[in-house]
Amino acid sequence: MSLPRVDLPADARPDTLAVREGLAPSVWGEHSEALFLTSSFVHPDAASAARRFANEEDAFVYSRFSNPTVAMFERRLAALEGTADCIATSSGMSAILLLVLALLKSGDHIVCSQSVFGSTIKLLQEFGRFGIATSFVSQTDPAAWRAALRPETRLLFAETPSNPLTEVCDIAALARIARDGGALLVVDNCFCSPALQRPVQFGADIVMHSGTKFLDGQGRVIAGALCASEELVRTKFVPMQRSAGLSLSPFNAWVVLKGLETLSVRMQAQSARALELARWLEAQPAVERVYHPGLESHPQHALAMKQQHGCGGAVLSLVVRGARAGAFAVIDGARICSNTANLGDTKTTITHPASTSHGRLSEQQRQAAGITQGMIRLSVGLEDVEDLKADLLRGLATPS
Ligand SMILES: *Cc1c(COP(=O)(O)O)cnc(C)c1O
Repeated sequence: MSLPRVDLPADARPDTLAVREGLAPSVWGEHSEALFLTSSFVHPDAASAARRFANEEDAFVYSRFSNPTVAMFERRLAALEGTADCIATSSGMSAILLLVLALLKSGDHIVCSQSVFGSTIKLLQEFGRFGIATSFVSQTDPAAWRAALRPETRLLFAETPSNPLTEVCDIAALARIARDGGALLVVDNCFCSPALQRPVQFGADIVMHSGTKFLDGQGRVIAGALCASEELVRTKFVPMQRSAGLSLSPFNAWVVLKGLETLSVRMQAQSARALELARWLEAQPAVERVYHPGLESHPQHALAMKQQHGCGGAVLSLVVRGARAGAFAVIDGARICSNTANLGDTKTTITHPASTSHGRLSEQQRQAAGITQGMIRLSVGLEDVEDLKADLLRGLATPS
């Protein structure tokens, strides 16, 4: 929609856009963006309503597919990702649902990393019932992606870094493979957020988000989005959203919109703490291995630094001695870190992937994915890093 943009210089930089991008304020001149908690909008006369329903005039009509607060969130996120447009959805998963509903049909094929978010794998497998097949391939081997291409391949779907092993995929290489195969590359940018990584810079066509994680940043609401070209958003995603109703509520949009204002400083501060913690953990005798893209020991360290603005991100994993008992001792010893599966919060969270997020896999599948019983995942928040070290040391020191 060509609605009035807030007055900003055309060349404003991302940190400025994160705080200021949006619609012009209402007649009341509010400074903080308004929360338009309304399901529908009133038309001045019958002819205007007719034009608006026929898409001949830009105006807000009904919050299932158009709302000013949601539009502000969409514009701000698009500005940060460097895409022309964006559509907000009720959750990260519904963003993937909208993606597939809008772009694919029976007989089409998807190539996806085998290391993506567990519910993403489940959802893509569900589409098999509707004749859309998915091949799951190595996160780190572009040749495997190329080999999986079929004439009917429409999408390549990647997530980087992966959870919990923080494996990094080469977005530029996957973008070339997608182009050669006549397919679109979709990147789930949940773990880095646009503050660290802009997949379209490396050739991705669509950026998918769970706004629930770092974009909100304080663990308050569920939200999602797809960032893409204006053509894809206007001709594919918005019409399907209008029919399917996977809409983001204005209230949740407002929370995430305000979260974007602090995204960059949070990502820098949380990544710095994560790297300090990762280096410290590598030196602990009770720790067998640490996974964080900022560590020189990380297999794709150089690629990660190139793709992620020199930042490893705020998520790390470690493998402790003593397998499951050793991992449980650390989790149960923690008095600051929260034992919860959410991530991207200013509060540090600690989880045992093998029995929670990856608990539905067989032990054999987990072994293949490299998720061992001694593995712990941390999403590092904004607490004092010395307090976090002491918190982990309580369980690490426990003989097991
Ligand atoms: C949480 C998450 C999702 C799903 O998002 P929801 O908002 O929970 O639906 C998708 N991808 C990644 C990487 C996630 O961490």
